[in-house]
Amino acid sequence: MSEEIEHVKCLIIGSGPAGYTAAIYAARADLKPVMYTGMEPGGQLTQTTDVDNFPGYPGGIMGPEMMEDFRKQAERFGTDIRFGYVSSVDFSSLPHKVVVDEIKTITADTVIISTGATAKWLGLPSEQQYNGFGVSACAVCDGFFFKGQDVAIVGAGDTAAEEATYLAKLCRKVYMIVRRDEFRASKAMVHRVLNTPNIEVIYNSETKEILGNGKNVTAVRIANNQTGAETDLPVEGFFVAIGHKPNTDIFKGWLEMDETGYLKTIPGTTKTNIEGVFASGDVQDHYYRQAVTAAGSGCMAALDAERFLAAKEHEVKEVI
Ligand code: NDP
Repeated sequence: MSEEIEHVKCLIIGSGPAGYTAAIYAARADLKPVMYTGMEPGGQLTQTTDVDNFPGYPGGIMGPEMMEDFRKQAERFGTDIRFGYVSSVDFSSLPHKVVVDEIKTITADTVIISTGATAKWLGLPSEQQYNGFGVSACAVCDGFFFKGQDVAIVGAGDTAAEEATYLAKLCRKVYMIVRRDEFRASKAMVHRVLNTPNIEVIYNSETKEILGNGKNVTAVRIANNQTGAETDLPVEGFFVAIGHKPNTDIFKGWLEMDETGYLKTIPGTTKTNIEGVFASGDVQDHYYRQAVTAAGSGCMAALDAERFLAAKEHEVKEVI
């Protein structure tokens, strides 16, 4: 049940690099943005350790610290940042209606969605124990830390294939653990994997456990799902590439999505199929998924929102 209604010019949902960058631009454009952080303020980067590929940090930075910097910068220009999650939306007419924490209704002239995506994990306790200490769900982010070492990657889709070839350029050996006797990835990607000498594909195998010394990963235990035979592969890094889930459940029925749930935007813009609703960051990008590309699209969303509002204001003046 909704109790109180508040009106805002620009509502930002989600607090990763896309949301905060949208907030910085929207606040500086005097849109007085209100941001709801979601249940994980700072988003996926708060789950990582060192970030060495975000421009402007020559010495690298820890993910959580970087998101603190984003937050402070957004606040400096007056973004109203609130902890809370959006439980439902109604995009049937302007202003759009958004319900927060199931009780508070906000009406918004523009909505910027930057709710991100969540990496899927295998669900092993040891995977969480060593997350950030040898276990990672992003080869592009963390591959560098395993230069010259042996690593394993689980998954058989395009992401796993692409990340395996990326890792193969940095690492001495890459074990690719595939649960069936074939890949899901496209033929071209599979061809690349099979023609990379330091990738060894291990079919029909599942990951049983990630082994470590309490501090770092030392091996991964796999089992052949036909014979049951278990093998320990000595590795320093373990990459999970079994897909992501975009955080779009609450937008189902309102916004156009692709078959895996990513929001569709008009190419070259952040505009969704509903006027005044914009999408930025991983929630609309299953391909690049980098902090810097998310930040870039957050900037685009704020500019798109600002221009949308300016055009609306112009329409009103013309009618008067
Ligand atoms: P996908 O869903 O395509 O693939 C996930 C893979 O992980 C599958 O091979 C699946 O195995 C495997 N998997 C899932 N759960 C487990 C588990 N518990 N244990 C072991 N393996 C598991 O995800 P992707 O992230 O690879 O790709 C998402 C989308 O993005 C796809 O449409 C893809 O084509 C696209 N993409 C395109 C790229 C490009 O064009 N260059 C690059 C990256 C992504 P199984 O096959 O047995 O189900």
